[in-house]
Amino acid sequence: MLYLGCHLSSAGGFAAMGKTAVKIGANTFQFFLRNPRGGAAKEIKDEDIAEYKKVASEYKFGKILAHAPYTLNPCSKDASTREFAQNVFADDLKRMENIPGNLYNFHPGSHVGQGIDVAIPQIVEILDAVMPEAKNTTVLLETMSGKGSEVGSRFEELAEIISKAKINAPEKLGVCLDTCHVYSAGYDIVNHLDEVLEEFDKIIGLNRLQAIHLNDSMTEFNSHKDRHECLGKGSLGADALIKFINHPALRGIPINLETPNELEGYAEEITLLRNNYKE
Ligand code: FE
Ligand code: FE
Ligand code: ZN
Repeated sequence: MLYLGCHLSSAGGFAAMGKTAVKIGANTFQFFLRNPRGGAAKEIKDEDIAEYKKVASEYKFGKILAHAPYTLNPCSKDASTREFAQNVFADDLKRMENIPGNLYNFHPGSHVGQGIDVAIPQIVEILDAVMPEAKNTTVLLETMSGKGSEVGSRFEELAEIISKAKINAPEKLGVCLDTCHVYSAGYDIVNHLDEVLEEFDKIIGLNRLQAIHLNDSMTEFNSHKDRHECLGKGSLGADALIKFINHPALRGIPINLETPNELEGYAEEITLLRNNYKE
């Protein structure tokens, strides 16, 4: 089964996102629980969730994916920024319990000069504080491009965070792989997809890979930049991305586009991928 969707605005609620997804040929989607800059969370209404569930079951949706605010930096050198990250993270995880099919993705953060050895224990400390809130939710660390002082551009860094976290069973703590980010980080998924996935399996474990962000990239291989491009218009190219979604190791994992598109553009990319997917 190909679970394919894109990032949608959560302004109209869950049922509205479900209906929009259906309109553009999607059967999953990604959303923010609050303003991406970290503002107040929107109220989640039971009626809205009930209506969403009807749409999701009728159209056989895969798991949907919440994305943490971009301002959430669990390894900031500023203690008050880390405290803010922990509070938002914990509050988001509490809210997630009311949403069916719960994946919560976050960026491990930027260490802003502290160094990776200081950053990783700080990330683990926040995970240890918030993970008890995630009773039915799987928390995912996103693979990053390594721009600036970002943590999580090497599989080893994600594996270390996961192994040091107290609550870390694969159904509790996993990884979301972003194709633009890993390619920018120096993993050649265009020419060596099998090898990259083998490496992921060896270091992190493919059983932890529970969501995919499918993006082309505006910048070249190993650029350590994070500039998403529409499918086929960037350095990865449409062929590599089609090969990617057809890889046997990635079957059934929900895939979301984060390409620079409006709904119409997303619909076209979803059609392109569905037309080139072999069941
Ligand atoms: Fe992200
Ligand atoms: Fe992403
Ligand atoms: Zn990105």
